[in-house]
Amino acid sequence: MNNKNESRRKFLTGSAAVAGATVMGAAIQPSLAQEQGYVFNPPAVTSMEIVGSSERFPVRRVFCLGRNYRAHAIESGDNPDETPPFFFIKPRDAVVDSRDGFPYPSMTSELRYEGEMIVALKSGGSNISEADALDHVYAYGVGLDMTREDRQHEAQALSRPWAISKSFDKSAPCGPLYPVENHGHAISGRIWLSVNGDIKQDSDLDLQRWSVPQGIAILSRHYELTAGDIIMTGTPEGIGLVEKGDVIRTGIDNLGEIEVRVI
Ligand code: MN
Repeated sequence: MNNKNESRRKFLTGSAAVAGATVMGAAIQPSLAQEQGYVFNPPAVTSMEIVGSSERFPVRRVFCLGRNYRAHAIESGDNPDETPPFFFIKPRDAVVDSRDGFPYPSMTSELRYEGEMIVALKSGGSNISEADALDHVYAYGVGLDMTREDRQHEAQALSRPWAISKSFDKSAPCGPLYPVENHGHAISGRIWLSVNGDIKQDSDLDLQRWSVPQGIAILSRHYELTAGDIIMTGTPEGIGLVEKGDVIRTGIDNLGEIEVRVI
């Protein structure tokens, strides 16, 4: 129990204790930040638990794939024969431990779940070929791309960016990562999500429009990818809304399942 709690505490903030102490003593002693040459303490490292290891995966950037399943593209109003998937971004500290409970966010009354597979990179580069792409994958996992649906629809109607609908605080509750070296690559397998026990999403990784190698290759034409980057690979059909008190479960074959309580 202690180890588990310790692990959860470290999920977000490796330097939380140091930062707290600095705030408390700021008036009477030089802060850690000043000793290091910063005007305030650097941001805490966001990191993810790794199954079978006491080490953690430090997150650099969070890329997300939109409309990467044909049936979800259709339910979202796209014609998948004409419109390819696309990318957007969440801030790294949107990644939080799925076990901590998901606080219903501000500025929305339509909170949507999207169950997704996560790809975690151990290396990167630019213009990565599809043939080489899987060599850069460290691990896979399960997570949620939580969305303020009302804010998204407003943005879409005005042809404005989606940022506040997708990149809000704690918008990516995630489970632990399953390293390739022990668990292999997650190329096919059932991906599902339930709310209060009712299955809402039920698909297969086979149905991704851009496979993991394709997604990495395409993304690397736009950004230089690096170790620590994670990619949320999109959600299948069956998206919907949740309320405070709802319990979301989502899982992928061989990558376990997570439970997220909306609080
Ligand atoms: Mn999504």
